[in-house]
Amino acid sequence: MNAQEPIYLDYAATSPADPRVAAAMGECLTREGVFGNPSSMHQHGRLARARVEHARAQAAALINAPPQQLVWTSGATESNNLAILGSARAAAKRGRHPGRHLVTARTEHKSVLDPCRRLEHEGFQVSYLDTDHQGLIAPQLVREALRDDTVLVSIMHANNEIGVLQDIEAIAAICHERAVPLHVDAAQSAGKVALDVERLQCDLLSFTAHKLYGPKGIGALYFAPARRASLQPLVFGGGHERGLRSGTLAVHQIVGFGLACELAAAAWRADAEHCERLRARLWQGLNAIGGVLLNGHPTQRVPGILNVSFTGIEGESLLMGLTELSLSTGSACSSDSDEPSYVLRALGRDTELAQSALRFSLGRYSSEQDIDLAIAAVTREVRRLRAAAP
Ligand SMILES: *Cc1c(COP(=O)(O)O)cnc(C)c1O
Repeated sequence: MNAQEPIYLDYAATSPADPRVAAAMGECLTREGVFGNPSSMHQHGRLARARVEHARAQAAALINAPPQQLVWTSGATESNNLAILGSARAAAKRGRHPGRHLVTARTEHKSVLDPCRRLEHEGFQVSYLDTDHQGLIAPQLVREALRDDTVLVSIMHANNEIGVLQDIEAIAAICHERAVPLHVDAAQSAGKVALDVERLQCDLLSFTAHKLYGPKGIGALYFAPARRASLQPLVFGGGHERGLRSGTLAVHQIVGFGLACELAAAAWRADAEHCERLRARLWQGLNAIGGVLLNGHPTQRVPGILNVSFTGIEGESLLMGLTELSLSTGSACSSDSDEPSYVLRALGRDTELAQSALRFSLGRYSSEQDIDLAIAAVTREVRRLRAAAP
């Protein structure tokens, strides 16, 4: 990497693809390679179909699911939309007493919250659960929110801004007592921590390639066998993917995703140790500045994300002084607005502290040197801004 290029500390927004992934994708585009349409019955089509099904097995293995229980999507945004809109709309058509209620949390990703808002416009009711000051949802709150007409609970595994991991097993147990399906947005945990749909006992699970060293624009939704009948598609057409998601399969994307999952299954433990070590070093260095607060639970979290607030500092000014670092104030999606992070507000941080937050996210290619340079840069800017403050 050349010297002027900023240090990349934004792995939670996206990661570069593994070079092996990029190479495998290229082979599925050209005339010499496997460019066929997997829906075609001729030899070119069959070869492409074989690649797609191999990738499905690779992606399913990462979450310990049977391959036929995965549907390809364009990413976790679409997977979340399909899980939430698809479950709710299918349930609303059922019987004389259709389900009209969903449960989610205030700290969910926008790709969960926005479909829920959409459903409110369609006449559904949604309960938005609060978290504690460390970003965790007490499973008891889920129990209290469930109603006889609840059609879905959607709770994320790892939070994209603060990295905390929710207790999905406990939440799933509560949902199952009441026979309510549970959807889990695992975009930030897939390939980062152990992820097993059998153990979690979730009914629907979203994940995406570009957060785990695969390409952008491809993801998957896992659905438990009993869920197929209770999912309404968002996209209609040729009936691909068992009718759940029509459209010609993006073979190169799928092959890249599959390989990225296989590589992640082999690498996540080492990656996690690496990120854990670097995050500890980063936190130690930043904490030494003084007036630094950790956002989110200190230990129940994914290894790669560190979110901190600085007292007496305005976040935008801080970020502006840190052009040598590629990092976010909060989630990548809301960074273009001046609104303080709704996730940090939900934790009870005041506007000023929410606005002074920085999210550092580390990955496989992060180095000790990156961390030390980041600490030096942030220390310099925080001191400068505090000295200039009235
Ligand atoms: C990135 C992310 C998404 C969206 O994934 P895309 O593949 O970019 O659509 C959804 N949820 C969480 C928690 C994420 O981090």
